[in-house]
Amino acid sequence: MSFKYSSKINKLRTIALALVFIGIFIMYGGLFLQASPLFMTLLMIIGFLCIILSTVVYFWVGMISTKTVQVVCPSCGKKTKMLGRVDACMYCNEPLTLDKQLEGKEFDLKYNREL
Ligand SMILES: [Zn+2]
Repeated sequence: MSFKYSSKINKLRTIALALVFIGIFIMYGGLFLQASPLFMTLLMIIGFLCIILSTVVYFWVGMISTKTVQVVCPSCGKKTKMLGRVDACMYCNEPLTLDKQLEGKEFDLKYNREL
């Protein structure tokens, strides 16, 4: 299989980082709308909320990181963290599973719903 999956924790971190940039960008955009204080305030609030949301996501990543299982990736040999029954290696995105029954089966994140 050539299709690679990215680790859930990495994905959440990417989302949190993206939110910071989106928030700053929206707030920066607000500076160009000084002629209309209402829109400027609105953009500032939306931008601020994006940054708050990003902080929440970062905090959440920290919380769920404590629930992860540390395994040694069979592909790259590095220690990686797994979230749920199936996840991908944080370094090489190799699909990993903790469940012997799922070994060899097609990698599918929906297995995590059975947790
Ligand atoms: Zn790996």
